[in-house]
Amino acid sequence: MRKLFVATSNAHKLDEMRSIFTSGWQLVGMREVGFRGDIDEYGDTLEENAYLKAKALFDHLGGGWVIGEDTGLEVEALGGKPGARTARFAGEGATAQDNMAKLLRLLEGVSDRSAQFRTVIALIDPGGGVHYFEGICRGRIAEHPMGTGGFGYDPIFIPEGYEKSFAALPAEVKNRISHRARALAELRDFIRHLEEKSAP
Ligand code: IMP
Repeated sequence: MRKLFVATSNAHKLDEMRSIFTSGWQLVGMREVGFRGDIDEYGDTLEENAYLKAKALFDHLGGGWVIGEDTGLEVEALGGKPGARTARFAGEGATAQDNMAKLLRLLEGVSDRSAQFRTVIALIDPGGGVHYFEGICRGRIAEHPMGTGGFGYDPIFIPEGYEKSFAALPAEVKNRISHRARALAELRDFIRHLEEKSAP
């Protein structure tokens, strides 16, 4: 089975990706290949951060098929923030609880609670070529956290067409409609297309 190296140390993300991306590729996390360093996310955009993650692992491995992924929560009433700063919204080292509490505080009394998750995946191919894939999941910010599943902002994000948060919905639902699922589907189609082209 071919290997796709994933520049993340987030076990939740890797689990999600493995259950979404099931097409004959083995997804290998960076911890499994001995990459222990923290990757600085100093870019201003999700694209830059996704690339920085992929490049750090690609350089560590000296090649291969490598992806980096970055996700941001873009809230309409905040002009698209926190965006690329989603992980550090409440400051360096902030926990998911801190970040959610800050967002709920900022949205107190705000009626337009529309928001979207956006995922960008940067793929570096063995020849060093870089390709980008995007997935968006629209929805709204709940008034209060609900549910215990998922991770990050899942307890306060209600996807469009549902009344429950990602953390309260079954994992299969999230893995079918999420930003990450959509970006991964694009990546999977791209890889399939390449494989078809290179088939004898
Ligand atoms: P990063 O892509 O790992 O840098 O994550 C950015 C921030 O978004 C972190 O605070 C994550 O917890 C959060 N995040 C990423 N993906 C999801 C998701 O699928 N649901 C909820 N929060 C997420």
